Parts: sequence; structure tokens; C-alpha cells
Amino acid sequence: MLYIKLPMERRKKIALVAHDNKKRDLLEWAKYNRDILAEHEVFATGTTGKILEKELGFEIFKLQSGPLGGDQQIGAKIVDGAIDFLIFFWDPLETQPHDPDVKALLRMAVVWNIPTACNRASADFMVSSALMGEEYDRLLPDYEEYRRRPVFEKMED
Ligand code: PGA
Repeated sequence: MLYIKLPMERRKKIALVAHDNKKRDLLEWAKYNRDILAEHEVFATGTTGKILEKELGFEIFKLQSGPLGGDQQIGAKIVDGAIDFLIFFWDPLETQPHDPDVKALLRMAVVWNIPTACNRASADFMVSSALMGEEYDRLLPDYEEYRRRPVFEKMED
């Protein structure tokens, strides 16, 4: 399979999202890793961002609240190459009104080979990686084959 390389800069574009029952967890994690996060560009969904900005004391680019479209905004930024790192503490024990958006965001993260952590342990391992302070080439399948797929032949079957 053919791959293309998408360069990630040393300064990563990190998105932080937490569902309500997980906000405390994310806040504790972010406070512990404050100095590392401060070296990067940090984005967050609305409510998560407001809480983090107050506690961390540096500017966070705040999007809409998740249920109002914030997850979709992060997904769109991933597609545009404007976010390249995702920490998403979603709640496995409570249904969310925006469940389709949550699923869509996680799907985009896989499509675009974005480092993604959905719990604290994974986030700890990810943020302590030597790659955090380096440039990194994300490998992506060459989606050109998909774009050029023969759709009309299928319709004629
Ligand atoms: P919030 O959104 O940070 O605005 O609460 C999080 C989410 O539910 O995706």
C-alpha cells in the first residue's frame, strides 16, 4: 500500500475534550502536565476549554461546547490539518446527546492517523513520549485510490 507523509511540527496542535463526568480527571491530568502543554498550541471544546484556561493560566483556543458542535469543529480541524493530537476523555457510563458527533470525531482521528488518548493512562504515555518534542511524519494511506474509485461501474451492475 502507498503511504504519504504528513509532517507534524515540534509544536503540536493539541485538542482536549472531556465529558462532564471526566472533566475533573482531565483537569488534574492537564495541571500535572501544564508545562508540557504550554509548549504547544492547545484547543478545546467550550466548557472544557473555559475550565482549563482558568486553571492552567495560558490561552486555549476554545471552540463550541461539544453538544453544540464542538466535537465536529475539532473533527473538521483534523481534516484540515489544523489539529494533530487528541486527548478525549469520553464517558463510557453515560449516554450523550451528541453521541454521533463523538463517534465521528473518533473516526476522523483514525482516518487521519492522529495520536489519540481516551483515558488518563494513555494520555500519560503519549505526553511523555520522546516524540512530543520532535517533528514527526504521520503516515497516511494514499487516499487517492479511494478518490478515484469507479462509482459508475458499480451503479450499472
Ligand atoms: P464541553 O464539550 O467541553 O463543551 O463540555 C465536551 C463534549 O461533550 O464533547
